Amino acid sequence: MKIRTLLLAALALSLGWATIPSASARLRVTTTTTDLAALAEAIGGEQVDVHSLSRPLQDAHYLDATPGMVVRIGRSDLFIENGFELEMGWVPEVLRETRNRSVRPGGPGHVDASAGIQAIQVPERVMRDMGDVHPSGNPHYTLDPVLAQQAARNIANGLIRVAPQHADYFRSNLDAYIEKSDAVVASWLEKFEAHAGAQVIIYHKHFDYMLKKLGLNIVDAIEPLPGLAPSARHVAGLIAQYRDSDVKMVIMEPWHDQRVGRQVADAIDVPLLVLCPTVGSCDAATDVIALFEVNARKILDALEGK
Ligand SMILES: [Zn+2]
Repeated sequence: MKIRTLLLAALALSLGWATIPSASARLRVTTTTTDLAALAEAIGGEQVDVHSLSRPLQDAHYLDATPGMVVRIGRSDLFIENGFELEMGWVPEVLRETRNRSVRPGGPGHVDASAGIQAIQVPERVMRDMGDVHPSGNPHYTLDPVLAQQAARNIANGLIRVAPQHADYFRSNLDAYIEKSDAVVASWLEKFEAHAGAQVIIYHKHFDYMLKKLGLNIVDAIEPLPGLAPSARHVAGLIAQYRDSDVKMVIMEPWHDQRVGRQVADAIDVPLLVLCPTVGSCDAATDVIALFEVNARKILDALEGK
């Protein structure tokens, strides 16, 4: 990594920043993903300035640590990471380089948003050397806004630690988030009742928490392991297995090779749905609740042949 050689320049920039008085008294919150940024905004409201280190169409499994990230985290009041090793390729390195002890694990300014969440798909045997990027189970829990309530709680606790004077405000925003996510998801569960158990094939195990919440049956994944691109032989095997099946659609993310998804979908004669993987990746996906709704709508339309 070039990060050490570039750190000096980054540090100078950081010091420059430190000498400029903050334009507002807002808390500086840095998150690894746009989903977490949306949750932090929902809870922090007018008391926070939130920045996500990844952009909406960047797969957070595969970012590289940069000096800019070290600078950003260095001047943050709160750093929120997804956990379940989603960011294992870059966040540990950034945290090693920062002099801001508060945002390191165990510090008051650090939040592991996954604390208290039970991951699905925890592998019995981790095949990291094969490229498994889900060694601690599926990390994409923010696709289910109800499950993300626990992340919102963890974020609220972090905000209260660094700004206890606003505790009542954060708690009331948390309550509002919980109430809204419960209501919105319940309304979609009703719409999906008629499709309980509908079979889908996915590419990466990205939307699984959402698909399970909606009562759909994920029968297979095009990736043989999360993070491992499929071989031609694997794809041919999937096509042979599902050509005469009840599979309703193939679901994938825009950052994976859509030709492979298209090949499988066409061969088994079902639609290919490229869903919105993160907050901000589609115009209407303005927060984690809206993200759920945008994707649920696309799936429902496909199930109903629209
Ligand atoms: Zn993943």
